[in-house]
Amino acid sequence: MDTRTEPTLLDGKALSKKVRAELASRIDALRARGVFPRLDVLVAADDPASITYVRMKRKWAAEIGIESFAFDITSETTQNELIDKIHELNENPDVHGVLIQHPLPKHLDEGLALEALGAEKDVDGITPHSLGLLTAGRPGFRCATPLGMMKFLDEYQIDVTGKNALVIGRSVILGKPAALMLLERNATVTIAHSRTKNLERLCADAELLVAAVGRPEMIRGEWLKPGVVVLDAGYNRVEGRTHDVGDVHFESASQKASHITPVPGGVGPMTVAMLLSNTVDAAEKASAP
Ligand code: NAP
Repeated sequence: MDTRTEPTLLDGKALSKKVRAELASRIDALRARGVFPRLDVLVAADDPASITYVRMKRKWAAEIGIESFAFDITSETTQNELIDKIHELNENPDVHGVLIQHPLPKHLDEGLALEALGAEKDVDGITPHSLGLLTAGRPGFRCATPLGMMKFLDEYQIDVTGKNALVIGRSVILGKPAALMLLERNATVTIAHSRTKNLERLCADAELLVAAVGRPEMIRGEWLKPGVVVLDAGYNRVEGRTHDVGDVHFESASQKASHITPVPGGVGPMTVAMLLSNTVDAAEKASAP
């Protein structure tokens, strides 16, 4: 007899809908006092994936009453023009949040662009200033994708205190801030990366696993500890598959996990919800009496 119980699906579609409904009422209150939350976006005009992501973000923003303008960054845009545009948005009191959609065209220095963005408008939480505030445990905008992961922990009442958390991936926008946020929640955090030896052994000890690698279905259920909570940020296109897949092999991991995010419909929708949430926070802060 199979006594295994199904894992709880961490449903990003449902949770992001709930978050957006809560935001809509805060936005109504802002608009009633003449404040119109606005999120502007700088996006590489030649990058179809970025354009699709930005279209979705702006659509969800519009649905709850956040205004948004997108500015095309092209192969003609110079570094100075980019920085001038960011300074202009920093100065514009009608703009509450600015998203610099990664990647910008290769001839531009994205790091300098992020450094130019004012921390109070960095609603994606990825400028060095915002990341420094996270590291220092000070208030500031938190990175949208790992923040969405933390929202799952709150919603599903998953306490990570003292738990072994393994974060696979150390990117500035995902792995590193996810590790710091888990540390803030008193998890015992290990960070793995491409030079890590014996990843399987680390996985076997993990009670919570964050996958932020970008390799389709690399992490197998056989590696995992029974009862593990799996947060899979991976979003990988695989030829011949009808939908994108995560970094975790979902079917085999579901045999072991107590909770798991599906791909699609897990971490992805929460990233957008958290971006919008930060934008509303920014508008409230900027207009506080
Ligand atoms: P990234 O910048 O390419 O970082 C990938 C990380 O994975 C690096 O730290 C790399 O290590 C590590 N890595 C690569 N191969 C590995 C291996 N074999 N074993 C262990 N670690 C390995 O990627 P990212 O921007 O963080 O994105 C990661 C994934 O999340 C991608 O699938 C991306 O599409 C997805 N993503 C999703 C969202 C969302 O909203 N759902 C948002 C952003 C990204 P090194 O540092 O040593 O190179």
